[in-house]
Amino acid sequence: ENTANKIAAGEVVERPSSVVKELVENSIDAEAKDITIEVEEGGISLIKIIDDGIGIYEDDLEKAFMAHATSKIKSAEDIFAINTLGFRGEALPSIASIAKVYLKSKFIDSDSGNEIKIEAGEVVEKSKTSCAKGTVIEVRDIFFNVPARKKFLKSTSRETSLISDIVTRIAISHPEISFKLFSNGKKLLHTYGTGKLEDALRSIYGKNTCDELLYFEEHHDIYSIYGYIGREAISRGSRNNETIFVNKRYVKDRKLAIAVENAFRAFSTVNKYPFFVLFVDTYPELIDVNIHPTKAEVKFKDDRTAFKLIFDTVHGALKEDVM
Ligand code: ADP
Ligand code: MG
Repeated sequence: ENTANKIAAGEVVERPSSVVKELVENSIDAEAKDITIEVEEGGISLIKIIDDGIGIYEDDLEKAFMAHATSKIKSAEDIFAINTLGFRGEALPSIASIAKVYLKSKFIDSDSGNEIKIEAGEVVEKSKTSCAKGTVIEVRDIFFNVPARKKFLKSTSRETSLISDIVTRIAISHPEISFKLFSNGKKLLHTYGTGKLEDALRSIYGKNTCDELLYFEEHHDIYSIYGYIGREAISRGSRNNETIFVNKRYVKDRKLAIAVENAFRAFSTVNKYPFFVLFVDTYPELIDVNIHPTKAEVKFKDDRTAFKLIFDTVHGALKEDVM
């Protein structure tokens, strides 16, 4: 069964940043209000996540890692089918199949906690322990048993910056949660969980950037659009500071980005890309989110309306600023 896990791992666990994303999403699902992420050497040697969520009940501890015990993978076609179905419930087994995992958790209603050690998918240790409420998970030596995949990892600084990008996006879309990110002991990010988007942006990007931001917001019968657009002073030569969330999920969407860029360019004399954070909320049935776990694409059933509304909203905010 470990083979099936390894195959799934090839899709879910592309690199350390995808592990960070899955683990942090688990902490969020567990209703954590405080999440600390520590990585070493770009997450290749260590990814450690500490949360104050509801924890995992003792009897569920092993199960959380063993979803694939009932794997239905039989043929190459089945593997392809899984690609289109997504990998829900398979992150932990996948991660545990290609790394050394230590997990310690105390379920909210339990008196004591439990710890478990899994290497390459095998439970090597399990015992009771005393610990604080919540969950600590350590993932060491990613791909230690899959050298062919380890070869594809980038430099530690590149992997670190990919992790930082992911944590930044998650922190922006969850201002109600406090996030800390440390890389080799150095603090890269700290948000305070005040619940305000503005506070999260200030913690992440600093006061000087935030002073150049304009808020926009517009509600339409099927779309709610809000976010911040930066004045020309903080525009960039690349699209690095363009962040889009659809229904709170980070997406990379050229069309939506262009709607904001066009509005920005109506007021800008430089040929640069704006700094912006855009949230689009709509009914889930009006969007097709590509459910492949490592992709972030979205398709609106009616993207003309979304596009126009975004353009008008951002344009309006910029126009008011120059008047
Ligand atoms: P999924 O999140 O899709 O259910 P995962 O493999 O990511 O699948 O996690 C398996 C299960 O382990 C989760 O459903 C959850 O019950 C439990 N779990 C994982 N991480 C945490 C956490 N940080 N806190 C509480 N429970 C967790
Ligand atoms: Mg998960």
